[in-house]
Amino acid sequence: MVDRAAVDGLFPADLPEPGHWEERYPARELPEGAKVTRIGPSPTGFIHIGGIYVGMIDRDVATDSGGVYLVRIEDTDQAREVEGALEQFDRAFDYFHISADEDRNRGSYGPYVQSEREQIYLTYVRHLLRQGKAYLCFATKDELADITSRQQASKVPTGYYGKWAIWRDADPSAVAAKLAEGAPYVVRFRTPDDADGQRTSFVDAIRGRLEHEANRNDAVILKSSDQSPRLPTYHFAHAVDDHLMRVNLVIRGDEWISSVPLHQQLFAALEFEPITYAHIAPLMKQIPGGKRKLSKRKDPEAGVDFYIGAGYPADAVLYYLRGLANGRLAELPLAEALTTPLDLSLCGVAGPLVDLVKLEDISADHIATLSGQQILDAVRAWAVEYDAELVPVLDNEKDLALRALAVERDGVENPRKDLRKWSDFRPAYGFFFTELFVPVDGPADERLAPLGVAADVVTAFAADLVANYEHLDDPQEWFDQIRTLAGKHRFAPNAKEYKKDPDAYVGSIREASQLVRVAITGATRSPDLHATAQALGADEVLRRLRALS
Ligand code: GLU
Repeated sequence: MVDRAAVDGLFPADLPEPGHWEERYPARELPEGAKVTRIGPSPTGFIHIGGIYVGMIDRDVATDSGGVYLVRIEDTDQAREVEGALEQFDRAFDYFHISADEDRNRGSYGPYVQSEREQIYLTYVRHLLRQGKAYLCFATKDELADITSRQQASKVPTGYYGKWAIWRDADPSAVAAKLAEGAPYVVRFRTPDDADGQRTSFVDAIRGRLEHEANRNDAVILKSSDQSPRLPTYHFAHAVDDHLMRVNLVIRGDEWISSVPLHQQLFAALEFEPITYAHIAPLMKQIPGGKRKLSKRKDPEAGVDFYIGAGYPADAVLYYLRGLANGRLAELPLAEALTTPLDLSLCGVAGPLVDLVKLEDISADHIATLSGQQILDAVRAWAVEYDAELVPVLDNEKDLALRALAVERDGVENPRKDLRKWSDFRPAYGFFFTELFVPVDGPADERLAPLGVAADVVTAFAADLVANYEHLDDPQEWFDQIRTLAGKHRFAPNAKEYKKDPDAYVGSIREASQLVRVAITGATRSPDLHATAQALGADEVLRRLRALS
């Protein structure tokens, strides 16, 4: 028999009854079939790309069904909380345009932060205690460890159940004595007596019917009484929050599948309507000889900041992730794939591989479809956060930046694919800008070394080119002046001639034009040289050529 007065004495006298919360959070008025979905990030670390993956699915399923998508901060593990995590969640969801209808800043089913919901949890803990569906447990860490080791020695499953659950059927006087001593306790759920040996099943929205052993463990539902605020465990908070927030479809990682039997018992004990689950297969990484879950600890690409920091365009990443979730979306053009709703039933049960090379290809293809102005805007927005030095350069030289981006992009059938992410802009296009370009330092500059042209030849050739340079519009004519000058300075007209008689020449036209390329761009590989020279303008080209001699 439960001593109601003793139970009530553990809680504030003015703690509301369940009916109060039921009324406060009424059933939602939504169209038939509308899905209310949610994501529950924990601020114990930075968000995993899997969080964006699941959030994207949640958002789509809610939107597509005329429902609601909410973000609930699951901060019941306060000891492990990481500073700045919430801001990082906001930034990540913002970057990937996954906006919530309800979150800690808006919505009428809140608070949306678990640590602010203590009263609500306590109401339902008291409710279960009054009915004998939960009980106080004073077992110490040492006692629990002892139980586990005895279970291991007797080769029975470990856990707090049956005869091992020492406080499950404790004498009320023993409980009263512990309380009088001020001993800390947790509250445990009393699993139904007949659970042991039973099986239970549920229909997962992705995986279909799944069968499991029923839960027999008396799980902790409220953490230790010596902590403030009194916080629930994940399992209990899931039941209470998803019920009161009127969530009707829980989309979460498949590591929670094994907890469903407990969750079913909790929903039943609380007399909540059962909820539908969809367990998502995790994003995986290829490793030698197999694959494993993408790990926040081991893989930089598991963190959302990896993508934002490097400046992968959100649309490209989303396109890629959508293709992983529903393979058929990978077959569609990007714009269509971004607007075609994800279908839960088409999500796989095996975790898809995250392949950065593939993502980079997708991203390069996507960026190649953008205009110079769109690229410039995106690079600038990225640089504000991640490359502050680049911002004034872009602002001061906007026209030059657009001319640079137009090289082999504007008016061509196959635009350059030299940008996979915004941080590629500086290495690929930085040389266009006087502030960022380091001219060669005479013929001994090490960037010229691979060409193997003697220093006096470089000096004489460069001086002649500077003295006679013509900034010609026609690419052929422009290049011909270099060719003619190269001949004059004893460069062979082609590599073949040079090979035939290397002693007769100082190099071939290839080396001569590479001297010009390195002088103008700082590298042996660059966009089309004539177009580059045109974008830079005659003065700047001459300034750079002069640096050769
Ligand atoms: N806070 C839980 C987690 O981060 C959420 C799981 C859920 O979606 O129910 O894993």
